[in-house]
Amino acid sequence: MNSGPHPPNSATNDVQTSTTRPLNFIRTIITKDIKSHKNDGQVVTRFPPEPNGYLHIGHAKSICLNFGIALEFDGVCYMRFDDTNPLKESMEYVESIKADVRWLGFDWGDRLRHSSDYFDQLYDYAVQLIKMGKAYVDSLSADDIRSHRGTLTEPGKNSPYRNRSVEENLDLFERMRTGEFEDGAHVLRAKIDMASPNLNMRDPIIYRIRHMAHQMTGDQWCIYPMYDFTQCLSDSIEGVTHSLCTLEFEDHRPLYDWYLDELEVDCHPQQIEFSRLSLNYTVMSKRILNELVEQGHVNGWDDPRMPTLVGMRRRGYTPAAIRDFCGRAGITKKDNVIEMSLLENCVREDLEEKTPRRMCVLRPLRVVIDNYPENQVEEFDAPNHPNDPTMGTRKVPFSRVLYIERDDFLEDPPKKFFRLAPGREVRLRYAYFVKCTSVVRDPQTGEVTELRCMYDPDTRGGSAPDGRKVKGTLHWVSAEHALEVETRLCDRLFRNANPASDGADFKASLNPDSIETLTASRVEPSLAGAMPETRYQFERQGYFCVDSADSSEEKLVFNRIVTLRDSWAKIEKEQHRS
Ligand code: ATP
Ligand code: MG
Repeated sequence: MNSGPHPPNSATNDVQTSTTRPLNFIRTIITKDIKSHKNDGQVVTRFPPEPNGYLHIGHAKSICLNFGIALEFDGVCYMRFDDTNPLKESMEYVESIKADVRWLGFDWGDRLRHSSDYFDQLYDYAVQLIKMGKAYVDSLSADDIRSHRGTLTEPGKNSPYRNRSVEENLDLFERMRTGEFEDGAHVLRAKIDMASPNLNMRDPIIYRIRHMAHQMTGDQWCIYPMYDFTQCLSDSIEGVTHSLCTLEFEDHRPLYDWYLDELEVDCHPQQIEFSRLSLNYTVMSKRILNELVEQGHVNGWDDPRMPTLVGMRRRGYTPAAIRDFCGRAGITKKDNVIEMSLLENCVREDLEEKTPRRMCVLRPLRVVIDNYPENQVEEFDAPNHPNDPTMGTRKVPFSRVLYIERDDFLEDPPKKFFRLAPGREVRLRYAYFVKCTSVVRDPQTGEVTELRCMYDPDTRGGSAPDGRKVKGTLHWVSAEHALEVETRLCDRLFRNANPASDGADFKASLNPDSIETLTASRVEPSLAGAMPETRYQFERQGYFCVDSADSSEEKLVFNRIVTLRDSWAKIEKEQHRS
């Protein structure tokens, strides 16, 4: 933990030294503010999640922005739980959010805060507004408040309670606090302007009664402050200089400023809005994510297909890739939808350099090499990375009976098929050339169950002394030595680019092939004991990660993080053409 009044935020090294910082309008504003010595040249930001759900990739954009700005400008960033609605909040969410922010690589030091830390102070501010004649207790029902509010084209109507005296308001508000009234009996409202063209300024509610225990303050309060009131004052209390939020709060900014101006606080943060991150082929709405979980379309918030950070982590996405993606998605004022393939490419790029290679046969087909000695085992040294010798090598055993990938063999291959077929010769990676001599079938189904091959002992290491070439190189494992594992081929959760478009039933867009579970895959023995969350490239198959929930010593479980190439690009091209 840091100490002192303004210790810098710390972060993992690669976060701090990240050099990909595209210019954006927020950084331009802050740079100017520092130059003009506004806020004494200080930069203070905050990330203010409501603990009512798990964080998703959209939140990651806000985290990277707020913590990133603090790191870049030697400022600080607060981690603040905006916990004013105990009905929807829980400690489970609080803990998961903290873990996610840390996992992304950011550290709030000693700046963990909760809006609920300020409940006393917020109450005092409300009393102050009442005393100034700027707030009143309204006793209209929720329905009447709504109907008095007017519409975009019609002004609202004043509440009959609007002109209560300061004394009466103070008395009622105090009694709201002590629990004398039931939920909904009264609310405290700001007295602004029921005819304002901005609906947020039509006497917004400041406090409401809610007899409900709070995860932080217990039974201490039965009135809770509303979002707009809480947000600006919490920002002010923390000395936030730049309050960064998403575009839908643009219309709330006049209210944000009104509270701070009326209360004449020392610190008046500047609210700056930016566009939300949207990604195609997935959804970012907490409501829909919740339904996906509740209705069993996925296996929990951390299902590897979910756009949540816990899901992406379990899937095997790296924090570095997500940060890189957020940087590339950019900060703008325009709503736009980012391609899922951009995120997947960031993941591929990050994994390519640092992920060790292994061989895994997803759908095994047995191969017997008839001319290989029965009990012989050879070990080949296989490099862990083709371009990085510092990553070392591992031993891969080779024997008479192997497995290859079922779809690396075709009995009746088309011209451009360069893999195995009767009479064809291929290279087994790191080992020998083999030629298929015959096939064995299931007598009932006729399905090919085994290939018989001959190997050429002179091709050890993968090249022929006579210079003859083969076009295909296959991955394989030794049947006797391989480990049986489960592989889960994760794909996009939705098959429509915009599953949550207006009026669309997102359930109809679910991709029925978003996960395929293969229970009899085989991996080379060097993977024994692979730890949860470790990542590998399975040659020719993609990047995989050991599942953190279901993998065990008895049976390893791997999630496919991403394929080696963007297979969706091809599908989309075809869809466009047809
Ligand atoms: P709610 O409707 O519950 O408020 P929310 O998605 O806004 O949902 P918060 O917990 O309030 O969730 O969000 C915390 C912070 O993350 C906010 O500052 C919000 O602006 C930001 N945020 C949320 N979703 C996105 C997104 N898709 N892109 C960028 N920032 C986001
Ligand atoms: Mg919100």
